[in-house]
Amino acid sequence: MSNVTQEQVFTALKTITGPGNDQDIVSLGIISGLVVKDGNVGFAIEVDPKLAEQFEPMRKAAEQAVDAIPGVLSVTAVLTAHTEAAAPQQAPPGRQERPVQAKQLVPGVKHIVAVASGKGGVGKSTVASNLALAMAASGHRTGILDADIYGPSQPRMMGVSGRPDSPDGKRLDVMQNYGVKVMSMGFLVPEDTAMIWRGPMVTSALQQLLRDVNWGDLDILIVDMPPGTGDAQLTMSQDVPLAGAVIVSTPQDIALLDARKGLNMFRKVEVPVLGIIENMSYFTCPHCGERSDIFSHGGAREEASRLGIDFLGEIPLDIEIRETSDGGRPIVVSNPDSPHAKAFRAIADAIWDKVDSGSGRAMPTIVMQ
Ligand code: ADP
Repeated sequence: MSNVTQEQVFTALKTITGPGNDQDIVSLGIISGLVVKDGNVGFAIEVDPKLAEQFEPMRKAAEQAVDAIPGVLSVTAVLTAHTEAAAPQQAPPGRQERPVQAKQLVPGVKHIVAVASGKGGVGKSTVASNLALAMAASGHRTGILDADIYGPSQPRMMGVSGRPDSPDGKRLDVMQNYGVKVMSMGFLVPEDTAMIWRGPMVTSALQQLLRDVNWGDLDILIVDMPPGTGDAQLTMSQDVPLAGAVIVSTPQDIALLDARKGLNMFRKVEVPVLGIIENMSYFTCPHCGERSDIFSHGGAREEASRLGIDFLGEIPLDIEIRETSDGGRPIVVSNPDSPHAKAFRAIADAIWDKVDSGSGRAMPTIVMQ
């Protein structure tokens, strides 16, 4: 297996002179989202989009420089629009001031909250859509951004289909259902298209879905993150101005430490973790109503308290939750008086209180053992 390192890549990129011809592209701080995986390298070079064509030779030279490193199997460099606030001397590339970025990317959005999970299939998208609907039910102007570009499920869960309009050919109009604004890569690429996304592409796609979409004024934007805690997820949490993140996990997943990886990832990029939601927490028999703790229920609550993170609530494994979500009418709207809808609303209220009081950002750093 190839063991090319980020340092090697940065060293190679330091031989490339940036715009202005006096400093290299690493010192200029315009390299972002570097991903090195098994000899495959991806990164973005941030340039003024109006001058993108002019920088094409620089992009090619950067690719070639990295390609020359022994062990490199592939290199993808993309030119992305730089953010105005990015002070060019600020190297290494990393997070900019979150509030500044939030303003630039989505000026009308007050809070952006990520819904994440350590792995796929734990119900992250189900929770994200129900939370968004619960936020809207509480009167907050709400949007949901489906950033799970590997397997976008929000069009299906939110019951929205078709393609977004773009009246000016540059910006996309947002889609809407149940009073929630929805945007997803699923609207833009056919469902059966296999896509290989590299870290920087994920970041720029996501930034476009934030910046080039007419979100209007929102109190809260829920981001349904891609599952897992790999490089793409890390880059995204770094480049999106998040007020905080919630982690969805099953009791089992907590036991297997997958959720902890999620916590660690957000800690690395200094995004406050607002709490854990235990999904598929217990099972209620649709026939007799009896409750069984199939996944050793309660693990998340215990783990959360051990880690000093808030436990936001538990959602049972319930056929109605599955059927309504997969059928495009999540339980919060289709059966708002059900106990499960109430549970989602209580969790949404807790999240709202945290971000709107500002405690999201001010939360202390989580200490991991
Ligand atoms: P993820 O986004 O983590 O991959 P999804 O939200 O797509 O997971 O959920 C995976 C499947 O599990 C979907 O069919 C969904 O309807 C179902 N599901 C999620 N949460 C629950 C729940 N609490 N009870 C029953 N089914 C659920």
